[in-house]
Amino acid sequence: MPWNELQAWQRGRLAAFLTDLAKRSPFYARRLDGVPVAQAGSPDDWAAVPFTTKDDLRAAQQAATTDAFLGDLQGVDSADIMQVVASSGTTGIPVFFGLTETDRQAWSDSVANMFFTAGIRRDSVVALTTGMPLVAGGMPYADAVRRIGATLVWGGGQTTARMATIMQKLRVDTLIGTASFATFFAGRCEEVLGVPADRLSVRTVIAGGEPGMGEEAIRERVRSGWGADRISEVMGLCDVMPGMWAECPEGGGMHFTAGRNIFVELIDPGTGAPVPWEPDAHGEAVYTTFTRQATAVVRFRSRDHLKVVGTACPCGRTSPLIRCVGRTDDMLIYKAMNVFPSAIRDVVLDAFATEIAGPLRLRKAHADQVRFDEAMPLEVELPKGRSAASADDLAERIQTAVLERLRVRVAVEFLQHGAIPIGEYKNALTYVG
Ligand SMILES: [Zn+2]
Repeated sequence: MPWNELQAWQRGRLAAFLTDLAKRSPFYARRLDGVPVAQAGSPDDWAAVPFTTKDDLRAAQQAATTDAFLGDLQGVDSADIMQVVASSGTTGIPVFFGLTETDRQAWSDSVANMFFTAGIRRDSVVALTTGMPLVAGGMPYADAVRRIGATLVWGGGQTTARMATIMQKLRVDTLIGTASFATFFAGRCEEVLGVPADRLSVRTVIAGGEPGMGEEAIRERVRSGWGADRISEVMGLCDVMPGMWAECPEGGGMHFTAGRNIFVELIDPGTGAPVPWEPDAHGEAVYTTFTRQATAVVRFRSRDHLKVVGTACPCGRTSPLIRCVGRTDDMLIYKAMNVFPSAIRDVVLDAFATEIAGPLRLRKAHADQVRFDEAMPLEVELPKGRSAASADDLAERIQTAVLERLRVRVAVEFLQHGAIPIGEYKNALTYVG
């Protein structure tokens, strides 16, 4: 279905969805009071429907006026909820979401579509490296892999050594992990297994959970590290659906793969005005879960900044192609200028990939620090056997490159190989130290 027809089909479902939701969820009953929900199918009236933020959801869940265990968000009887997942909680108290059996089937269907687009087939042997049971990248991902009929090897939550051994023994050909995990696990394989990662059978690497996989320097690192012939970036959001975007074999950006269940809009994050899905358009993704029963979200502000990199693809899929540029939550301010930590990472990896180990992070003085008026402390891991003393003028060259490309001053500090922990889920590019 052409993209505009798909969006029209989705809009045709919005009025009935909102009318029903206002009857089921106390939170949305208050929120939609006075909103002309019966006309919500028209783009102009839809624009009058209020946005929902993560803070709104958290507050609604904490100040429950009902006995429902998911608070005022809950739109069904507790007995109908068959699973609870939590948002990853990188920004404080987690928000809990529920799934009914119908919701679970919808997730399974759409997340399977994401993984199919990313290259998983019935004969794939798939290592799922997520190990946290409450996150949506756990069970729902496992469910979707099985939905395709592929062989699921859920090895998350174990040591790197055990996971590498399992992957070797079972001849895993597809790896699902975060971008940083996929990047750095390959490097650790030889240490723990005695065999370099490219001698294992992994040929498709599916990575998401954080921006980065769209960067050619990082893709190349993953490709050569694993000897992979396919890198597929994927993206989802626990609060909405854990898998909604995936790269097709063309690899030129991510397609939207959850159209049967999720309505996605692009907006100007400053004004909230809709932004058309046109090449080079930029904006924040806003999601509405128009089939969700247990805990629906309406016009949910994802804080993910997308760039439309194409609107036609030789693979035949009709959705726009996007890259995720960064998250508002991660955005820092250097002397009144906005800067995404991922932009610094990309500059450094792009120019110095052969001279550094890979992992790096910005150090904040305290958790709430967003503003930097002095050079930003940037910790960079050196390759094995290389000491800070032998790094010569590398620090200065990195600082100059970042300054020239981003007009941001960083102060490089070198760390020994292995000093920066590899994140299993949402590896942070900043930390408090
Ligand atoms: Zn495509």
